[in-house]
Amino acid sequence: MRRFFISKEQSEEAKSGRVVLYGTDVNHIANVLRMGTGDELLLSATDGQELHCLIESIRSDAVVCSVSFASCNQTEPRVSVSLIQGVPKGEKMEFIIQKSVELGVCEIMPVMMERTIVRFHSAQDALKKQNRWQKIAEEAAKQCGRGIVPQVHLPESFKAMLSKIPQDSLRLIAYENEQEYSLKSRIEEATKSADVQHICVIVGPEGGISPEEFQWATDTGFESVSLGRRILRTETAGIAVLSAIRYVFED
Ligand code: SAM
Repeated sequence: MRRFFISKEQSEEAKSGRVVLYGTDVNHIANVLRMGTGDELLLSATDGQELHCLIESIRSDAVVCSVSFASCNQTEPRVSVSLIQGVPKGEKMEFIIQKSVELGVCEIMPVMMERTIVRFHSAQDALKKQNRWQKIAEEAAKQCGRGIVPQVHLPESFKAMLSKIPQDSLRLIAYENEQEYSLKSRIEEATKSADVQHICVIVGPEGGISPEEFQWATDTGFESVSLGRRILRTETAGIAVLSAIRYVFED
């Protein structure tokens, strides 16, 4: 069943038994998918509710849906993962976002690191890029049946991002020079002493993580992990970490 995402306000509105969709979804429903009255669709609300709806009417600027029933989303992982991704070159970020959303990431924080090659010439430039990335996240979330659309933040400096990490999360930095600790050993160690609910993972850009950045990260509680004896591409590393975390927590 076709899935669309609604806002908190629309989710409130749905309590009346009806929801109205606006914006790009209208064109997608009417002209791309050529859906019509009586067709079913699923509306995912930010609170994890899934509204099973029937299209009541389609106008040029709106689609009116009647709610048949609500259910609880079953696809969101129990352990949430934030990916802190050194901004890579070219289209790699689109690939990283798409695969990370499929693997249950809850948010993606693009960071400008010392060895990041890409530069944004203006705030406008960065905003345009973030809008595109957010659209990729929404498309991936629709395709894989997520209960939420993971947020892709505006790119920011590594230090600024470090200051925003919640204290109660397990903080890991995938470090290409780490020889001792594996991802498995770090997670096992953490789950022995606490009920891990949220994990933050740093992955460097193509050029890697500088010694200073590594120091800043470890100074703020990030623990270094190796992803094996081979050097993974930046677009592989985050996916490898997310896949391993999903395996460990079986969600
Ligand atoms: N320039 C680095 C070098 O040649 O050693 C490689 C950087 S790698 C392409 C990009 C990022 O992926 C790294 O900064 C790290 O976050 C992650 N990564 C890649 N391979 C890894 C490994 N074997 N262990 C831990 N992290 C790894």
